[in-house]
Amino acid sequence: MSAQILVVEDEKPIREMIAFGLRRGGYEVSEAVDTTQARACIANKRPDLILVDWMLPDMSGLELTRLLKRDKETKDVPVIMLTARADEQDKVTGLDSGADDYITKPFSPRELQARISAVLRRAAPASTEEIIEFDRLKLDAKSHRVTVADRVVALGPTEYKLLSFFMGHPERVYTRGQLLDRVWGGNVYVEERTVDVHIRRLRKALEEFGADHYIQTVRGSGYRFSTQPE
Ligand code: CA
Repeated sequence: MSAQILVVEDEKPIREMIAFGLRRGGYEVSEAVDTTQARACIANKRPDLILVDWMLPDMSGLELTRLLKRDKETKDVPVIMLTARADEQDKVTGLDSGADDYITKPFSPRELQARISAVLRRAAPASTEEIIEFDRLKLDAKSHRVTVADRVVALGPTEYKLLSFFMGHPERVYTRGQLLDRVWGGNVYVEERTVDVHIRRLRKALEEFGADHYIQTVRGSGYRFSTQPE
């Protein structure tokens, strides 16, 4: 299930640009033009993350963040502040208000997505599912051990992370860009073909156990983990 993100920004072109980028990145997005609308949205459905602009017409994004962090219903929802101010003092004030991160305009969609995935990862409860299993393939998050029919598959750290992400999000296609954001996280300087290299290594490691068919190439789109035949 994709993460639900609420974008609170009064400037329509910016809000739409952010929402568009996030939807393309596979997130579910709702939009609010001020804090009143934002609070109505949150009351209706608790988002997984909120992007709040600093300057809003009815109340500042800073005050909204403070309110959310004081309310036990919303205090655990991560907040990223958006602002045109690059001032260090403002950054401190923003983080003091309880914001989880802070991003200065202008930013690239890629940078925003990297910050979002980093904040979501930090906010995620320490892996609720410790063992994920598909047929004979088993991933134990606690010991970082992957086995096929109880035989250990030797994987490098990136291949492990990639497989762990896939097994947590099966039957869904991810583009190389999405995989970079979700698996590699904050490092935005990794090239997309790096993904192909690690996919190849992952398949090779699984091939030995006859389990490489789970990692499927979707032409023109990206990759998917599937238990169904290609
Ligand atoms: Ca604004």
